[in-house]
Formats: sequence, C-alpha cells, structure tokens
Amino acid sequence: MEPVIRLLPDHVANQIAAGEVVQRPASVVKELLENSVDAGAGHITLVLRDAGRTLVQVTDDGRGMGPDDARLCFERHATSKIRTADDLQTLRTKGFRGEALASIAAVAQVELRTRPADAELGTRVAMEGGRVRAQEPVAMAAGTTVLVRNLFYNIPARRQFLKSDAVELKHALEEFQRVALAHPGIGFQVRHNEQDLFHMPAGTPDTAPGAALRQRVVHLLGRRYDERLVPVEEATGHLSVTGFIGKPEFARRTRGEQYFFVNRRFIRSSYLEHAVRAAYDELVPRDHHPAWFLFLELDPGQIDINIHPTKTEIKFRDDRSVYAVVHAALRRALGRFNIAPSLDFEPEPAIMTAFAGMPSVPTVAPVVKAPDWRPQDLGLRPDPSGWQQLFDLRSDQPAAPTPLDGGTQAVLPQVFPMGDDDGDHGPRPVFLVKGGYIVSPLRNGLVVVDRRRALERIGYERTLKRLEQGSGPSQAELFPRNIELAPQDFALVSGLLPELRALGLDLEVFGGRTVTVRGLPTESMNDDPAELLDTLIAQLHDERATLKTERHAAIARSMARSLAARSQEAPSPEHLRDLIDRLFACEMPYWTPGGKPTLITFGHDELAERFERG
Ligand code: ADP
Ligand code: MG
Repeated sequence: MEPVIRLLPDHVANQIAAGEVVQRPASVVKELLENSVDAGAGHITLVLRDAGRTLVQVTDDGRGMGPDDARLCFERHATSKIRTADDLQTLRTKGFRGEALASIAAVAQVELRTRPADAELGTRVAMEGGRVRAQEPVAMAAGTTVLVRNLFYNIPARRQFLKSDAVELKHALEEFQRVALAHPGIGFQVRHNEQDLFHMPAGTPDTAPGAALRQRVVHLLGRRYDERLVPVEEATGHLSVTGFIGKPEFARRTRGEQYFFVNRRFIRSSYLEHAVRAAYDELVPRDHHPAWFLFLELDPGQIDINIHPTKTEIKFRDDRSVYAVVHAALRRALGRFNIAPSLDFEPEPAIMTAFAGMPSVPTVAPVVKAPDWRPQDLGLRPDPSGWQQLFDLRSDQPAAPTPLDGGTQAVLPQVFPMGDDDGDHGPRPVFLVKGGYIVSPLRNGLVVVDRRRALERIGYERTLKRLEQGSGPSQAELFPRNIELAPQDFALVSGLLPELRALGLDLEVFGGRTVTVRGLPTESMNDDPAELLDTLIAQLHDERATLKTERHAAIARSMARSLAARSQEAPSPEHLRDLIDRLFACEMPYWTPGGKPTLITFGHDELAERFERG
C-alpha cells in the first residue's frame, strides 16, 4: 500500500507547537521580555493594545541581530543560547529551546526590527502564518523591536478562548512584574492603549545591597511596601538566598506577593513555599499569607529546569539542603528584625484636636528600633533575671562566629553582661501608662511592652507546654456551675473536653447542651466561669479552621488570648517587673502567637536623633 505517514510542513508543526508556548497575550509578553533580558538590554519598553490581543510590542537596547540571524531566529530550534546538551548544565539565560519566536510567528503577524550596535543599518523581517513575507534593511537605533499583531488571527478557536481584556491584561502584567522584579538593574516602561502604566528607571548597582530591589518593589507595588520588607541575606558555599520577606504583621488572608526566583528565573515551588511557611511558624496565623521576594542563586548544574515547557517548575539536585538554607535564612532574617513593626496604637483624641488646628504638622512615623537578634541565635537561653543585658549591644565589637556552616556572612552583635561596677541601683523602675503599655528604662534606651500581648505570649507558651504534657493546675470550684450553651458552641466545646481539662478548665457534659464547670485554670480562679467560657468560645470559633490542622496551637492561642483579655492581676510594680521577666523567658518573646509585636525598644541613639541633638 501507499505510505500514509507524512512529515508535517514546518508552518503546521510550528502552529501545533505554539499551543504549548503561546496560550494568551501574556505568553507573548513573557517570551519577548525574556529575549530582551537575554540580549543584555539596559532598558525595555512594552507596549500593549487591547490587553495584547491586537498588539504586543517590545523594544530593547540589547545586542541586536545581524541580517542572517534576524531570519534564522524564526526557525524552530533556532537558538544562540546552547550548542550542545552539555550547555544545559551551565545555562544562565531565560530561553534556550529556540521555540518562542517560531511559535509566535505561527499564530500571529510578527514584525522584527533589529540592529547590532556595530552595524550601520538594521534588518526588518515581516512574518505571517509562519512564512517570511518581507526582509529589508532599515534605519533604526541599535537594539531590537518585536511587534506581535493580531494574536491567533489564523486560529479563531483559540481567539475565542481568550478572556476579557481585564483578565488578559492582568495576566500580561503579572508576567511583566515577574521579569521586572527579577531584574531591578534594567529600566522598564509599560504602556497600554496609549496610557502609561509603569515607568521605572534602572536601579543603580552601586547602592546598598537590596536597594535596587526594594525600589523596584515599591515602584511596582506601592510606597506602603517600603516599611513592610525585611531583608534576607544568606550565603553558603553553593547557594545564596537574598531578597525580602514581609513582616509577619502584614500577612493577609488573601495570598499576597509571593515570588521565588532561581538564578533570576521566576519559579513556583510548593517545597520552597513550605520552607518559608515553616520559618514564619507561629508568627502568622495559618490562614494568613506573608509576602516574599526571594532570590536563590546556585550553580546551574545543581538544577533541572527542563522538566516543564513553560519552565516555572524546577528540580533541585539537593533539595534538602536548599530547603534547610532557605529556612535558616528566613529564621535569621525574622529574628534579626523581629521587632521593627510600626506602632499601631491610636493617638489620643485630645492630641489629635491639638494638632488639628495647626498648619501642616509633619506626621513623623515613629521610628522603631529593635534588638537585632534573639538570644537563641547565639545558642543562649534567655536569662529571665537579666533581660536588660539583652539590649546592651555594642555593634562595634568583632563579629561572633555564627552557627550556620559554610561561611555565612551574617554578622551578629555580642552580648555584654552588666558588670559589677554598675552597682546596685535597686529594682528597675517600671510604669504602666495609658493603654496598657509598660515603660521601663534600659541601660541604653527604653522598652515599651504591651501588657496584654505579653500576657498572651506567656500564656501561649505555657498552655502549649501543658497540652503537650497533658496536665495543668486547676482550682476546683467550690460550687460547680451549670452553663447552658448555644448548639454550635456546645458542639465545639464538647469536642475539646480532654484538652480543656489538661489546661485546668475542668468541664463535664451535664446533659442536653449544658456543661458543668468543676474547675478553672489557676490563673483565672477568681473569674466568672460563664464569662471566661464565653470569651474562650469566641476565640475558639475564630480558630476553627486551624483547629483541624494544628489543634494544640489553636487551642493554646485561644486560651492564651482569653486569659490575657480577662486577666485581673493587679498591676503592681512587682507584677509588672515579673511580667517582663516572664516574657523574656519565652522562646519567642517579641511577638504574640498571632504575629503582633509584644514590645518595642528605643535606643539612646534614636532618642538623641529624634530630639535632634546632633
Ligand atoms: P530562545 O530564547 O529559546 O533561544 P527564541 O525563539 O525566543 O528562542 O529566540 C531565538 C533566538 O533569537 C535567540 O536565541 C536569540 O539569539 C535571538 N533573539 C531573540 N530575541 C532577541 C532580542 N530581543 N535581541 C537579540 N536577539 C534576540
Ligand atoms: Mg526566548
């Protein structure tokens, strides 16, 4: 019989292959921007019309192409980026498959204009349906412009598959954002339907590390991000982790800005995401999402990027150590900047009115200084009697060796215990000021503790310990009380009886929806059982989602918040001093279990600065 197998003509093969590479205008945006980055551009302009449907145009000042390359680049598997399979091991570019331009040209009308810096004239190539329609010399500035018109003009089915302009534009700008974040050293300009969307200068490389990235994040996402970022800077022999993570208190219920870049390539990785989440640990509630902009740099031979056609997934050769380094880097970053949050108290109405009549009062945001490490970082257990020394830091001392192996570059200050020559000045002064803040001087400044939050942190750690040990002290009620609960409250509480009993809240089901309170935790033995139960139930309802995934922590948070909210401890100076001592004996004294700051400190330097003492 006649042979029935035929080789497909190139333009048909390209059209089929295009299905993988080009799904929507955003795919074109991504491929063209990446080509410009690969070409060494210093400035890139992106112009969109109708969310990219009718036009995606990218102009760069990169190295350009000569006349032969200008035509060749539309061939399938035409790439200047690898020559042999071995080159994949050292790949530093975004592209390497040589498919993008061929695929795009198969499903759109494409015009390329390109000129290397050392050529007098550029080349213009017009493509339609995967075939060359025109090629001619053209006068132009050095660099490359690619215009992609009428995407899917020849495939109506694909065109109909596109979503609304708003959705397509969102996807396109997402791709742009990833490239712009990955390359703060490149300037970008974006226009859509004659409207300027972004105009971002190239970040200067000679400023402080991370400065260009910080500026880029602020340009893309807004000024408010500036105060939300905590720098991450960690380098071991094979791997460096840099960038920024969001402060815990800015974590949101909606998924925020979460970016991993590996060798400047945006990737997704649930594995790395887990490492990040684990580092935030209890600092943000489970259903809240912190932001991150993290850059991993490692030897290209250590990764396999070839496993996914659009290349956002990745395999690490040694994924365990990548996990460990990312986790350690974040732990350290969070520990170092643990209490740099903004003060979120409300100014007193009286002060507001006093200022209201004055012309243009500069609103100076409170600058908050934090002890920039935790005692645990140095392998020390905090000494509850000497918390004041924790703040006596001399940053001009030589750096202490750090526990991370592999030559990490972090510099930790050292601890200088108070010497005997300081004498004994009697008990430290403490003041409770309006709003429940405890103020106390430090040798080199002062500390302000939020009393209720401190109680929450202390209660949380104690409660968690009791839950793990399975028993906590309880004070038996002389007259057991019966309390009738609402159906949903009863269902919640009756499922937690053993845990609550372990915490000293001794409940029994009396019958129906009624429980008998036989004993209260010793911390709240004078409290009204019905009111305590009410408070606790409200907290437990808030934690309902997390009760399923992290039962103990959720119960501990609820109990700690309830006890703190209902605390009746008399605020004597002894009590306040004791409270601060107990706070500093905690594993994680600087935050509540929900990730809110428990204390802030002001150093002498900062006080002098704010009084403009010079
Ligand atoms: P890949 O990027 O995988 O190599 P592409 O189809 O995206 O494949 O591009 C093919 C080739 O065209 C690239 O390898 C590069 O040599 C050249 N090229 C594409 N865009 C540009 C550009 N903006 N400036 C200079 N050369 C380019
Ligand atoms: Mg490419």
